[in-house]
Amino acid sequence: MNFRKLRAVLLDLDGVVYLEHKLIPGAAEAIRTMRARGLKVGFVTNNATATRATFGARLTAMGIPCATAEVMNTSYAAARYLGGRLARGTRVFVFGKLGLAPELRAAGLSPVTVHTREEFRRYRAARPYPNTVVASFDTDLTWWELCAGHVALERGARFIACNFDPTYPVHGGTLPGTGSLVKQLEVSSRRTPFLVGKPAPLMFRMLLQEWGMRPADALVVGDRLPIDIAGGRAAGAATALVLTGIDQRRDIPRSRWKPHLVARDLPALVRLLPTP
Ligand SMILES: [Mg+2]
Repeated sequence: MNFRKLRAVLLDLDGVVYLEHKLIPGAAEAIRTMRARGLKVGFVTNNATATRATFGARLTAMGIPCATAEVMNTSYAAARYLGGRLARGTRVFVFGKLGLAPELRAAGLSPVTVHTREEFRRYRAARPYPNTVVASFDTDLTWWELCAGHVALERGARFIACNFDPTYPVHGGTLPGTGSLVKQLEVSSRRTPFLVGKPAPLMFRMLLQEWGMRPADALVVGDRLPIDIAGGRAAGAATALVLTGIDQRRDIPRSRWKPHLVARDLPALVRLLPTP
């Protein structure tokens, strides 16, 4: 890998830049240094619970100035992916409403949500069901929501998942992630969703394409080997594992996905990169 030709660094958020909305020590400073060296910094997250603009605003409020166009997340990527394939105004059932609905609306589509028994009754009465189901994360997930996704999938709706992450990191451990929720619909419908998030290469490709760059110009940085490192490799980029999130050095030998670089944290990673 020739790191002298590097033009962009694509950072995962959870476990790399912050943990439970608290900045990881040294992250802001390291990002400043990368930018000062002329590297374009992007933030690529499997999180679909907010819009791309909200992630940008949150990072800025945390002391990392960030434009909307520097963020790529699964709610935006799913909406853009579908917006390019479905007619304007197409109804899309959204499982995990938070960031998806506004991004779908911005892409010209009509998000449909169901939470209660009464809403499910009305949804059934207003057939045909939406021809597309997008599944992501929802802390208020109800059985009726699963029912609405299930019946549409049973009728052949297109099935999209924002990510398959089984868990997400919190201080002292993990909690059930999007993948564990998506799995419920997979099991009942016996359908396999198209994956938008990492380890699929879609988000890296979309962001680099927007910037007019190629995967070979980029270093993908993450804390999970089977998600970030696998995704970066699938996209054809260089990869770096940082040890501030889930995977540790001891996990590398038994993983199929080997990073090109390993660093304790972002400041240590900056020290590994060549200075211009
Ligand atoms: Mg992470």
